[in-house]
Amino acid sequence: MTEAAILSARGLTKEFKGFVAVNNVDLDVRRGSIHALIGPNGAGKTTCFNLLTKFLQPTSGAITYNGRDITGLSSADIARLGLVRSFQISAVFPNLTVLENVRIALQRRRGDSYDFWRSETVLREYDDEARSHIADVGLTAFTDERAGELSYGRKRALEIATTLALNPEMLLLDEPMAGMTQEDVERISALIRRIATNRTILMVEHNLSVVANLSDHITVLARGEVLAQGDYATVSKDPKVIDAYIGA
Ligand code: ADP
Repeated sequence: MTEAAILSARGLTKEFKGFVAVNNVDLDVRRGSIHALIGPNGAGKTTCFNLLTKFLQPTSGAITYNGRDITGLSSADIARLGLVRSFQISAVFPNLTVLENVRIALQRRRGDSYDFWRSETVLREYDDEARSHIADVGLTAFTDERAGELSYGRKRALEIATTLALNPEMLLLDEPMAGMTQEDVERISALIRRIATNRTILMVEHNLSVVANLSDHITVLARGEVLAQGDYATVSKDPKVIDAYIGA
C-alpha cells in the first residue's frame, strides 16, 4: 500500500475453473481521486470490482482499505467500513417513488426497520436526509414520481442517490454512463465530480471522453492483467494500450 492509497490490491487473482480472469493485479486508489478501470471486453474489470467488494472471493491476493486488510471480510462488512458499490437499476423498486427508494436505502444503512417506521421524528429525519440526496443527484422535481416512470439516465441518478444514502467514503461505480444520452452523460459527469469533492471514486467506464474528462488516474486491464497505469495523457499514448484497446 502506498501512503496516500485508500484502497489497495496486491497480487489479486481470480480463477474460474482454471481460467484466469484476473491475474496478479496490483492497484492503488489514491484517497480523494477519481480512478477509472478501463480495458476491452473480457479484460476482467467487472471481476476486479466483484473481488474488491467481495461479491467474489479472490483465488489469491490481498486487499487493503484504509490500511486494514479486508480480504477476509464480507461485502456487508466492507460496505459498513464505507466502501460501497453502486446498486444496479435492478435494485431500484419501480413501483415506489424516488423518495421511498432513497428512504429504503437509508433504512438499510440504519439496519433497524422497526425503529425506522415507529417514530414520526425518525421518519421525518430520514425524509429530510433522503430529500438532500435526491437534490444532490438533481432529481428534486421527480421526488414523488414512481421510479419505474423515470428516464434511463434519471434511474441511474436515483441509483447513485441510493448509494449516497449509505454514506460511503468510497464509491465503486460500474459503467455509470452505459446507455446514457449526451445530456445524461453531462449531468452524471457533473454529479460524479461533485461526489468526488469529499469522496473517492473507482469506476469502470467505456466512454473514453468521460474517462479523459473525469479521471485523475487510470488503470488499463487486458486479459486479466494490468497493461498500463497513469493519467489519461500517459495511458492513451501507450502503444500497448492503443494496440489492445483504444485502437482496437
Ligand atoms: P470485463 O468486465 O472487463 O468485460 P469480466 O470481468 O466480466 O470482464 O470477465 C473477464 C473474463 O472472465 C471473461 O473472459 C469472462 O468470460 C470470464 N468470467 C467472468 N465471470 C465468470 C464466471 N463466473 N465463470 C467463468 N468465467 C467468468
